[in-house]
Amino acid sequence: MGKPTGFMEFNRELPADRAPLERIKDWREFHLHFDQEAQARTQGARCMECGVPFCQTGRLLPGGASGCPVNNLIPEWNDMIYQGLWREAYERLRMTNNFPEFTGRVCPAPCEGSCTLGLHEPAVTIKLNEVTIIDKAFEEGWVQPQPPETRTGKKVAVVGSGPAGLACADQLNKAGHTVTVFERADRIGGLLMYGIPNMKLDKVDVVQRRVDLMAAEGIEFRTGIEVGKDVTTEQLQAEYDAIVLCGGATQGRDLPVPGRELKGVYLAMEFLTKNTRSLLDSSLQDGAYISAAGKDVIVIGGGDTGTDCVATSVRHGCNSVTQLEIMPRLPDQRAPTNPWPEWPMVYKVDYGQEEAAAVFGADPRSYLVSTKRFIGDEQGNLKAIQTVEVKWEKGADGRMNLVEVEGTLQERPAQLVLLAMGFTGPEKTLIEGLKLDTDPRGNVKATEGIYATNVAGVFAAGDMRRGQSLVVWAIREGRQAARECDRYLMGTTSLP
Ligand SMILES: Cc1cc2nc3c(=O)[nH]c(=O)nc-3n(C[C@H](O)[C@H](O)[C@H](O)COP(=O)(O)OP(=O)(O)OC[C@H]3O[C@@H](n4cnc5c(N)ncnc54)[C@H](O)[C@@H]3O)c2cc1C
Ligand code: SF4
Repeated sequence: MGKPTGFMEFNRELPADRAPLERIKDWREFHLHFDQEAQARTQGARCMECGVPFCQTGRLLPGGASGCPVNNLIPEWNDMIYQGLWREAYERLRMTNNFPEFTGRVCPAPCEGSCTLGLHEPAVTIKLNEVTIIDKAFEEGWVQPQPPETRTGKKVAVVGSGPAGLACADQLNKAGHTVTVFERADRIGGLLMYGIPNMKLDKVDVVQRRVDLMAAEGIEFRTGIEVGKDVTTEQLQAEYDAIVLCGGATQGRDLPVPGRELKGVYLAMEFLTKNTRSLLDSSLQDGAYISAAGKDVIVIGGGDTGTDCVATSVRHGCNSVTQLEIMPRLPDQRAPTNPWPEWPMVYKVDYGQEEAAAVFGADPRSYLVSTKRFIGDEQGNLKAIQTVEVKWEKGADGRMNLVEVEGTLQERPAQLVLLAMGFTGPEKTLIEGLKLDTDPRGNVKATEGIYATNVAGVFAAGDMRRGQSLVVWAIREGRQAARECDRYLMGTTSLP
């Protein structure tokens, strides 16, 4: 194990982020990395290498996820970090995770929520250790294209290039199949490219670097092609030996209240996608994005997508920003119903709120608020929204119901509203085209671990199968779907 007494000697330490008032002037990543190897080794030394490493289990417990969904061999590489065996740590890491440079930057780290040390001390810095290993591996030139030595002659189409599609394509290519990834957007990466903003995950230096590596290993990427429209599903079935669908859960949840049609009300994804595209195409010089500059912005939805909208609006130079959440504020400590090693459902201040507070003097979030209507001017432009405070009360049937609090109607000025209330599931084009069965939530029906749909030779993985989730779950599903696809094509498989 690392250092047997390390967890008693060393505190959890993370490199400081770039200061909020400094980082909002640009779109560069805000997390910094340790500049000295010794600091990183000290953090590795804190790992207790417990007999049952919950951090690497990756299970769904009743109250939430526990441990790393890709089953990273965390205690092993923590020990290697402590010993300075960076190359060995990298070799261990790439056995389980195709893209540690993505998860090491954007994963909420369920591993740390189930770290045994976290029961009584701050958890080991697992996510930081992961990104330190992979960034060092790139710096040292250890990450090189490794095309397969032989090809099987089988052709597979992967539809969608998010983390699920990329992980699946990477694994299938390693197994020697000839893989083509179809993506309707103009760039590869799914939500890695056009959802998560650049300040969390650099598009050129990090996402495109990996796509280029995969292309050098023999994977063909075809952008600007929507399967089901530009290429029919029948054409795909005729041309390929198997198809893996990784189209995501891209239907945004709307808010059909009066005034929804007003100019100035947008789904969060339209706002975020246009911003990143314009940033990459022209450093925001082409004007092809929705600007928050000088506007009173209201973000409806208190989750991660909402936070990304807050941070983007702040960088545009908005006049004010408010984030409305219909649920109550989370507790500061775990509730008794949310014990370790479940994912801790506790109050956090994320980067967007930190930035808004630095600029406007207060956290932008308001809890237990519901939106009644959008109010416009005579030209159809949004000028305000009407809200009401709410509370959750248990009904006779035991269900929690939303009840408006009398006398709390309020009009809030707003020229831009961003709807960030989650996603309702995958789009229908592929589902209808291939006549796929769906589950009660509208996701493609395919059992976890098997990933086969009701149509022979067609598999589904990622958000399209499990609903809106996380990058790390998408990577897990892409890897496992590749294994099942390989088994279908070859009768056996050696993929993990
Ligand atoms: C704004 C935002 C921020 C997020 N931040 C985080 C975060 O910080 N950390 C985290 O872990 N998770 C985050 N998530 C969630 C995470 O991004 C997703 O769970 C993950 O990307 C899902 O991966 P996927 O491969 O299943 O689908 P996606 O990433 O959604 O990729 C699906 C791709 O399929 C393409 N596609 C769909 N239909 C077709 C078709 N017919 N033909 C061709 N292409 C098609 C789409 O264009 C898209 O590119 C965030 C999500 C959003 C929306
Ligand atoms: S992928 Fe996520 S859960 Fe797994 S080790 Fe990295 S940060 Fe933790």
